[in-house]
Amino acid sequence: MIKTEKVLHLKSSRGRKVRVVRELYLREQVACGSALCQAGCENDGKLLSGDVTHYVVPDAGVVRDFLEILEFRELCGIVFTQTACQAAQHARGRRHYNRLRGLLKDPRHDCVLFANEFQQYSYCPREKGETQEQWHTRCVYHAAVWYYNHLAGLTPVVMITEDQNTIKTCSSLNSGVYVISTNEYLESFWPDLQAARELYASIAQTLQERESEGVEKEYPEHLPADVLEAGIKSGRYIQGMLNVNKHRAQNEAFVRFEGSTNKNTELNSDVLISGMKHRNRAIQGDSVAVELLPRSEWKGRTTALAAGQGEERAGEDAQSQLMPTGRVVGILQRNWRDYVVTFPPREELQSQSRNSQKILVIPWDYRIPKIRISTQQAETLQDHRVIVRVDSWESTSLYPSGHSVRVLGKAGELETEIQTILLENSIHVAPFSEAQLREMSLNSKEHPWQVDPAEVSSRRDLRDTHLVFSIDPLGCEDVDDTLSIRTLPGGKHLELGVHIADVTHFVKEGSLTDLEARSRATTYYLADRRYDMLPAVLSADLCSLLRRVDRYAMSVLWELDAESLAVCNVWYGRTLIHSSYQLHYELAQSLLNGEGPEVPELAQLESSEQDRKLAELLHALETLTRVARHLRAQRDWGGALELEGVEVRAQLDKDKNIVALVPKEPLEVHETVAECMIYANHWVARKIQERFPHQALLRHHPPPKQEFFNQLIDSAKSRGFTIDTRCLCLSYAHLCCNRLLRMMATQAMSNALYFSTGSCPEEEYYHYGLALDRYTHFTSPIRRYADIIVHRLLMAALQSEKEDCLHKTLASNKELEEMAQQINNKNRAAQHIQKQSIELFQYLYFRDKDPLTDERCVADAIIYTIRANGMLVFIPQYSLKGAVYLKNREGQVVSIEDEGRCTWQAGTLQRHPDRISTCTTAGTHIFHLFDHVTVRISVEPSRCHANSLSLELISNRPHAAARSESRPTGRGHSELVQEVVRREEASQQAVQEKKRPKLSREDREFRQSKKPNLYSLLQEISELALLDSSELNSFQNPKYSIFS
Ligand SMILES: [Zn+2]
Repeated sequence: MIKTEKVLHLKSSRGRKVRVVRELYLREQVACGSALCQAGCENDGKLLSGDVTHYVVPDAGVVRDFLEILEFRELCGIVFTQTACQAAQHARGRRHYNRLRGLLKDPRHDCVLFANEFQQYSYCPREKGETQEQWHTRCVYHAAVWYYNHLAGLTPVVMITEDQNTIKTCSSLNSGVYVISTNEYLESFWPDLQAARELYASIAQTLQERESEGVEKEYPEHLPADVLEAGIKSGRYIQGMLNVNKHRAQNEAFVRFEGSTNKNTELNSDVLISGMKHRNRAIQGDSVAVELLPRSEWKGRTTALAAGQGEERAGEDAQSQLMPTGRVVGILQRNWRDYVVTFPPREELQSQSRNSQKILVIPWDYRIPKIRISTQQAETLQDHRVIVRVDSWESTSLYPSGHSVRVLGKAGELETEIQTILLENSIHVAPFSEAQLREMSLNSKEHPWQVDPAEVSSRRDLRDTHLVFSIDPLGCEDVDDTLSIRTLPGGKHLELGVHIADVTHFVKEGSLTDLEARSRATTYYLADRRYDMLPAVLSADLCSLLRRVDRYAMSVLWELDAESLAVCNVWYGRTLIHSSYQLHYELAQSLLNGEGPEVPELAQLESSEQDRKLAELLHALETLTRVARHLRAQRDWGGALELEGVEVRAQLDKDKNIVALVPKEPLEVHETVAECMIYANHWVARKIQERFPHQALLRHHPPPKQEFFNQLIDSAKSRGFTIDTRCLCLSYAHLCCNRLLRMMATQAMSNALYFSTGSCPEEEYYHYGLALDRYTHFTSPIRRYADIIVHRLLMAALQSEKEDCLHKTLASNKELEEMAQQINNKNRAAQHIQKQSIELFQYLYFRDKDPLTDERCVADAIIYTIRANGMLVFIPQYSLKGAVYLKNREGQVVSIEDEGRCTWQAGTLQRHPDRISTCTTAGTHIFHLFDHVTVRISVEPSRCHANSLSLELISNRPHAAARSESRPTGRGHSELVQEVVRREEASQQAVQEKKRPKLSREDREFRQSKKPNLYSLLQEISELALLDSSELNSFQNPKYSIFS
């Protein structure tokens, strides 16, 4: 080993030049990381594929400026030299370096790191008079030559560089080692990779123009990292995440504290950042350091409704009480992602390009500022949506600078809009790769998949002993749960079984399929499609517990006392099952109701055999229903919530046009299946938490915040006392209110979340919504990655019990907690894309309807929030919510004429917590919370952002159609008011307790009466917390609407 020194000249974070000396130890043996190695290198870990036409070695400059190109998965055989990686890290910082590291670690990218500076024969010391950059390039070239020789010339090596001199001098120096420019490389080797070439052109142009920047400061400089760190420690600065108000993106942003860094104890709210100057180049999602302004400069949060575009309406800003206000002094971590943008319209384009080479593009997300990019395509791509990346935001520039990456498509077209929604939520769902699919077992006519005899002997075989069946939505392909119930010999015990698809048998930890599933974390459901977490061969076939085929399963079997239904024994483990029936909900319910529907599985049988089998199935269903009711009652006793899902489903014709929006019907059998799944999840949670107290993946649901409850109690109180007597439809009102409160609650309440047991005190394990002390997800491994983790944990727990030692390869608490956070984030994103895709379809539904003549554009709406200049309403018919203005741009207010008709008149508005009144010469008109009004729905197309709907008040009365549909229940309003008052006490007591109290008999009966009272309202709200993406029912899959 030879010792030498490497001298570097670096720039410190304050801009000073620093000389750094590094000791290097040169060795003869440095692993090459190639599958073609002939020299017996100790290659462990990722190997460069041998099945390529060449290897490519990018120069330091290429890694620094064009890493995005090297990120294309199509490019393979990339050798990153240590020299290039370190140079790029120094020049571009941590974010860039992390991307590079991610690339190197990810087995889906065919690239390796070669430690060329430790290799005795490829290392070259810096020569006199040589610039640092020249030296780096020479090192990379030497490494390329070494690599070629080391592999005995088995494959040519291509070095790519932007340095023309090197291309000239080195290109014919060594045969087999080619030196060309990045552009030439893409053109000759990847002519079909159009996207990479376009991206290259875009980055190259940006680099060229960066030099001609101005010097005048638009923003104060950010403080250096060490100063920020010290300031945060001392409490002078506050650390947090920047959150821009999308309705007032230019003016209003908030910073929420992160961690326990807040030493400023008088602060218990967010910090307001008012205006772009104070935001000081921070972008939505960045982690920032904030300095508080003196109290005299504090401002209030805006409470008036703002038009969708975020435009300001002068003089209408009603501000609430003052709140801590600050300014950004530094950025701790940038959180930039890819942004979808639109080019400015032609007129504006001309005035813009007069002043500069660059144009300002408008991001789809209101919260992101305009971005300066260099492009010559602004004219041709007028109506398109384009992806851009932000490169920098200098203090001399009003706007951040970036470059375009890819054209998404024409704005307004369904595909473009769907892709936009996915991208804006950072969801990447590339088709499964060849390599991933190669890992899959085959199942075709020629090679049918078969049960492995070795598996049969290691599993409990239930094929002949258990009547197994599934109950799913009609047309469900991915059956991940089945059920069984039977009376054990002797008749004193029942055995309930939940059998879940054994996904982890097929998806090995660390395989490409596993990594892809982990990065997706969940199947994504959009209004008209879904993106699966697992390839179809697994999700719809080998893992799917289809009828009349042998399948592997993970089972939980409970032995219950036949009378009391108390649990006597629980068995967990791998099984082999053969499902007899694939029922759908409606069919199962119809069987239970004695309606005698036809069961397809029995159609071919003789009638006596048919009767016998039908009786057997019906008996199983009835027993299951009885058990589920019992389980449900047990949870009710603990204070669980009514899990009733009323959702709207879009009916599409073959061209994906929406023909109708229809509400979905809840059935008891939904609850029966849900209850069994909840039970299995609960028992598996107990098992893994018991065995791995510090590294089990559980799911908890924090109780709602007190202040939120108070607010809701106030709302409900006002509803109780001011209920509109014109609305005669109690059941209708009740149904609407439930959904409405549920919606309000989603905005204010926390979701259920995954966590690692070592990262959370035990008293916080509680699942509030389900009233269970332990809960996890075990029953849907085909569509949720959390369940895959839990399956592995359960197997490890059973294994360790058998061998009485802990599993070695178990993820640590820290790793598991990180994974839990990742899955939580993806679930949140999945929720957003689903919501946004539904909104997109709602827009598409109304786009071709004339609001003035089409009666479908007029609907009943309920007021659920009062604002300074209007109110927010909910339209049950379409599950739609939006703003209704009571004051227009001319300052006129809504006035009510004959029969409730609305017109605009000069007048004033007055806002109260539970009502808002307009006062004109025609008189005073009051709008209360929960009042029904009639609105007209019309579309509001947007060029740059998501299209939206706009609502116009046309009458202060309920919509006539809604009134005629409703059926009065005969319970008067006075009684309702009494109930509300009577229940208020009980419910206030309820919310003060962290865990829900046990209820008196009276309470329980009352609650189950399903009559509108405060208690049930509060429950409806709590239920909301269950609506996170994994349980969010999708349009294709209503199954998850009802359980968590
Ligand atoms: Zn080697």
